[in-house]
Amino acid sequence: MFSISMFLNKFFEIITKVSVNDVVDMLIVAYLCYKILMFIKDTRAEQLFKGVIILLVVTQLSGMLKLHTLYWMLVKILEIGFILPFIIFQPELRAGLEHLGRNTSFRKISKTNNENYEDKVIKPINEIIDAIYELAENRIGALLVIEGKTKINEIVQTGTIIEAAISKQLLENIFVPNTPLHDGAVVIRNLKIKSASCFLPLTQRKDLSKELGTRHRAGIGISEISDCISLIVSEETGNVSIAKSGKIYRNISKERLFNILKEFEEKRHESNLSILKDFFK
Ligand code: ATP
Ligand code: MG
Repeated sequence: MFSISMFLNKFFEIITKVSVNDVVDMLIVAYLCYKILMFIKDTRAEQLFKGVIILLVVTQLSGMLKLHTLYWMLVKILEIGFILPFIIFQPELRAGLEHLGRNTSFRKISKTNNENYEDKVIKPINEIIDAIYELAENRIGALLVIEGKTKINEIVQTGTIIEAAISKQLLENIFVPNTPLHDGAVVIRNLKIKSASCFLPLTQRKDLSKELGTRHRAGIGISEISDCISLIVSEETGNVSIAKSGKIYRNISKERLFNILKEFEEKRHESNLSILKDFFK
């Protein structure tokens, strides 16, 4: 009873000391925490964040329970651990900095200039889609990476540079089995075929269906470390899948693929300050 009244006294003592500034301070911190949580939701950072929270709670508990060795060990892990996110998320950090660092020299394909837009955006997208579904119909496996704002030169260089306008025929030709360039991925940059037969990093995810072999894992892997979109045609099932931000969307219809690619291209031309806008949206 005594301790409860002491607790209440202490509580009201603290409450009366809280100023408007403190409330504003707390609201801002809460808002930023919420935004960070939303930003990292469903990403690799979410798992890491949960791990850090558990580590902090266990460290605090071991300190309170006077488990000296465990406490010492956990504190050391936390001390060293602060550089871990910089190593683990090096690709994401680089991508983020590239976004922020880029200036406003992006070439905006104006939607008002309809002819330009049709020729430069809609036509190549349609060529990609026609090729993809033709390959799917013929059960020919294919993997296409459509680069976002982040350049993936290290991937482009693993393949054979092509630098050609996108055409259904060329794309289909590249993936014909047993031809020199059919193995690996095609990289599309600025709606041009940049490179073929590229080697992509495989995702390390353990929760994927057994049906998804290395082609799908490669498509997901590259989407985890850059802001690209991967298009995957399965030679086993003839299904078309998309991988974006480490997630895979299977059995995509032509219409949906068109909308996704169109939106992706429009976004690619948006101001690079949009990463900040996304954060505060
Ligand atoms: P499918 O459904 O078409 O069989 P899958 O996901 O089961 O696809 P695999 O059968 O293992 O995958 O596909 C092998 C092909 O995937 C390889 O021949 C190669 O073209 C491509 N591939 C595999 N690994 C990579 C990689 N790291 N980067 C790029 N392409 C790759
Ligand atoms: Mg397979």
